[in-house]
Amino acid sequence: MKADTAVLLTKEYAQQLDQENPLQGFRDEFYLQEGTLYMDGNSLGLLSKRAEKSLLNSLEDWKNHGIDGWMSGNQPWFEFSEKLGALSAPLVGAKAGEVIVTGSITTNIHQVLATFYKPEGSKTKILADELNFPSDIYAIKAQLKLHGLEPDQHLIQVKSRDGRTISEDDVIAAMTEEVALVWLPSVLYRSGQLMDMKRLAEEAHKRGILIGFDLAHSIGAVPHSLNDWGVDFAVWCNYKYLNSGPGGVGGMFVHERNLGTAPGLAGWFSSKKEKQFDMEHTLEHAETAGAYQIGTPHVLSIAPLLGSLEMFEEAGIARIRETSLKMTDYMMALIEHELGDFGFQIGNPREDERRGGHVCLEHDEAARICKALKENKIIPDFRAPNVIRLAPIALYTTYEDIWNTVRILKQIMVKEEYKNFENTRNVVA
Ligand SMILES: *Cc1c(COP(=O)(O)O)cnc(C)c1O
Repeated sequence: MKADTAVLLTKEYAQQLDQENPLQGFRDEFYLQEGTLYMDGNSLGLLSKRAEKSLLNSLEDWKNHGIDGWMSGNQPWFEFSEKLGALSAPLVGAKAGEVIVTGSITTNIHQVLATFYKPEGSKTKILADELNFPSDIYAIKAQLKLHGLEPDQHLIQVKSRDGRTISEDDVIAAMTEEVALVWLPSVLYRSGQLMDMKRLAEEAHKRGILIGFDLAHSIGAVPHSLNDWGVDFAVWCNYKYLNSGPGGVGGMFVHERNLGTAPGLAGWFSSKKEKQFDMEHTLEHAETAGAYQIGTPHVLSIAPLLGSLEMFEEAGIARIRETSLKMTDYMMALIEHELGDFGFQIGNPREDERRGGHVCLEHDEAARICKALKENKIIPDFRAPNVIRLAPIALYTTYEDIWNTVRILKQIMVKEEYKNFENTRNVVA
């Protein structure tokens, strides 16, 4: 922030930043709850009018066309997943045929591992990290067991030096001859660290190792160049920064050099489109990322993504990233100035090229501070044991929302309002 501290702390300064925000117009497209400050768009993005419209269009198609909705109507379902894949491609820096909208993060990890993880001789190990999301680790262990391999011996989890971040150097040092595949997050879900995907992909490939990323916390917030970087495959969900709704269908990228590999988990939607209804018992799988679909697409859970992606195309991921960095930077500056005395620590890396879209705020009383925030109509989320994640969203959060969030957080600390709650997490935190 360039402004003087005194100016920075004023509400007028926040309002001025809002005036200057080139993405300001998108806020009106979202359903925001009056009086509520939503800082959790990195867990579940809000509904937009356009996403609602594209969902209603699919319902209309069903209503008006019945089975013929597969090929006719506003948004024919038969190639809907491919079309959405092509529309998602700019967000990950991919060619249209490298992306498909299908499955969920976890099922897509199963698919990429079932397809590309081929332990051979002494090259059998999967390299991940100890701060990875549980579902990713469960899927890796399950895949190892399907190969008859002991997860204790075949899954290597790179240790964190500080409990928050994973050093790329440590990952690279662990890329031994025995490693067949590397699986990492693009942005760590707790600390918000953004990994250097390009460098990691280069180093993995020098050693003949395949590398894939879970983009859950970067898709829609951070630009990617997966094709240029040579990343082998990636998966993501569309319900976080991409606002496609609870349980919204996920996405998958497979680098063009890996296309043509038969899907490990096959189904009739893996088919070449023109062959699918031949009903042959020998699969001729698609030569695009579409091959890694399994069954009938979940049309009603896919449809909102169409409206949402239109907005990302208009806003442009570069502008979204620029705004997001400015917002989180502003939030961190306010936190440092206003909350310095209350035992908080900022847990995310500070350099722009090493952080994603959320601020990781650590505090020993984090669980009950989150409850007090909710009582005050601020929606954060809590990640055990001590992290409050706050995500100002480029398309719908204002600088004034950020200013108010920090103001109320300070009030909670000054008045010790958090002491009215127990320091334990709720079932869904
Ligand atoms: C949100 C998230 C998931 C969730 O997986 P689903 O299969 O979509 O339920 C998995 N991994 C990471 C890193 C996440 O952030």
